[in-house]
Amino acid sequence: MSGGCCPSPQDTPKSCESKTAASGSGDHACFLCGKNGKRVGRETVQALANPDSVARLGSADGFFFCATSDCEVVYFNGDGTAVRTGEMRAPVFQKDAGSDVPVCYCFNHTRRSIAAEIARTGKSTVLDDIKQKVKAGLCACETTNPQGTCCLGNVGQAVRAALERLSTAKGAMTS
Ligand SMILES: [Zn+2]
Repeated sequence: MSGGCCPSPQDTPKSCESKTAASGSGDHACFLCGKNGKRVGRETVQALANPDSVARLGSADGFFFCATSDCEVVYFNGDGTAVRTGEMRAPVFQKDAGSDVPVCYCFNHTRRSIAAEIARTGKSTVLDDIKQKVKAGLCACETTNPQGTCCLGNVGQAVRAALERLSTAKGAMTS
């Protein structure tokens, strides 16, 4: 796995994520919420779960990431082995709506930092910043991002949400 998560900066977040998903053997339903998870490598679970949980997992593998916001299962496999939100080293973007939760784990952009730039300048340079660093081979999504794949889709979502909040706030002020 050299060259980082994203083959080229021209790639859309979608193709970036589907590339990783395609390497697995398809989707699998979370035993708690019933939604399908995306396959993640053992390296991701090992890097993101706390040491006690990693020790408990032993040699378990074949994990999937559950992205459901109100489900406390983060990783699960077909044997019923699970890692829950309380066992993670870092908050999980999809499951924690807090302002200081990272959106981009490799370069530490949070909902708060993204919204702050937009409030200050009216736009966001975060996507371009991340794409440039990805191009330079500086990202490590497999071991920094709980979902184990590139964050660009989530960053795009956070930027849109922050822009919407700003225009709603402006609309409220002028009307
Ligand atoms: Zn779930």
